[in-house]
Amino acid sequence: MNTYKNPDEKGYYGDFGGAFVPEMLFPNVEELQVKYLDIINSESFQKEFRGLLTNYVGRATPLYFAENLSKKYGAQIYLKREDLNHTGAHKINNALGQVLLAKKLGKKRIIAETGAGQHGVATATACALMNLECIIYMGEVDIARQAPNVGRMQMLGATVIPATSGSRTLKDAVNEALRDWINNAADTHYIIGSVVGPHPFPDLVARFQSIISEEIRCQLQEKIGRPNPDYVIACVGGGSNAAGAFYHFADEKEVKLIAAEAGGLGVDSGKSAATTFLGTLGVLHGSKSIVMQTGDGQVIEPHSISAGLDYPGIGPFHANLFMQKRAEFYSITDEEALRSAFELTTAEGIIPALESAHALAVLAKKKFAESDVVVICLSGRGDKDMETYLSVLESDDL
Ligand SMILES: *Cc1c(COP(=O)(O)O)cnc(C)c1O
Repeated sequence: MNTYKNPDEKGYYGDFGGAFVPEMLFPNVEELQVKYLDIINSESFQKEFRGLLTNYVGRATPLYFAENLSKKYGAQIYLKREDLNHTGAHKINNALGQVLLAKKLGKKRIIAETGAGQHGVATATACALMNLECIIYMGEVDIARQAPNVGRMQMLGATVIPATSGSRTLKDAVNEALRDWINNAADTHYIIGSVVGPHPFPDLVARFQSIISEEIRCQLQEKIGRPNPDYVIACVGGGSNAAGAFYHFADEKEVKLIAAEAGGLGVDSGKSAATTFLGTLGVLHGSKSIVMQTGDGQVIEPHSISAGLDYPGIGPFHANLFMQKRAEFYSITDEEALRSAFELTTAEGIIPALESAHALAVLAKKKFAESDVVVICLSGRGDKDMETYLSVLESDDL
């Protein structure tokens, strides 16, 4: 199958993907593999899902022509406003889709992992709406760092369980969630928050997020008379907002794709999360991909100023785009992201999430032609990052 968009039947995008899970998880994963496409492509599912996206999430999100940024960088720059979604980011698209899927599978209980708490809040929101039990695993360290989101999840009725092993952060929360899933196979669905995990999760999440590029095509057709931009830029943690923004363009060769990874303090600093620059072939959380690891396969602790990009791997969809050179990858430092966040705020009156600011920072690194149509996925809003932004304002660092 010669496509970048979808994996083969075994869940491989080129050399990457698959399903590497303990035997105890086979039945759960296999049930999903067998059923997911029929369920999510059915007319009744699509009707319900799209109804929620429109009436509950507030889609379609605007494709906003950023005139001031365009002047500054000499290109036609459009922002896809995922920051305007209910709960403040793209993650709700996936959470609603998966909760609906879980209901169709007859599951009564939802579990999820979360790092900064954004996926946890989206999942707790979808569970409150659809009246399902919700359990969120979160590293003990992250619980302390992200108190407002922990409060939101609890107010939404979710139980937040601390992961107390390892570094007590995201990857440990994933391990705890997987352990729960093994023990509660029959009645529980595990909602992964990005295009990672064993097949079919990467494809499942990419399909739910593909609404982003579906809308971009219609909106560009209306605004400029053609569906394809010259460039699409998105930040990549696990890669779900980027997969959604790239999806319907991945097999359109004239559209150039650009992924922005979190460089942290710099790729050579030992404090970075730029997976394609630092990673090697490995298996992480159930799929074969590019992973930041030591020579003997120990996962290296990543670093990024933005919690949503602080992940030592990358989804198999993106690993394949990288290896095939279909997408260009940039490493953006903490400082470059901060600069771009303040620049967007003063130029356009939009305070972006720190994650999204990594995508914006590509503008200063790449030379565009005046006529180039550049779409940037603004994955989320900056409310959650105000503490970081305020500390920069106070220190006058930039
Ligand atoms: C979680 C998050 C990301 C990173 O996750 P992806 O799966 O790579 O999209 C990016 N932006 C925001 C606003 C997030 O909350």
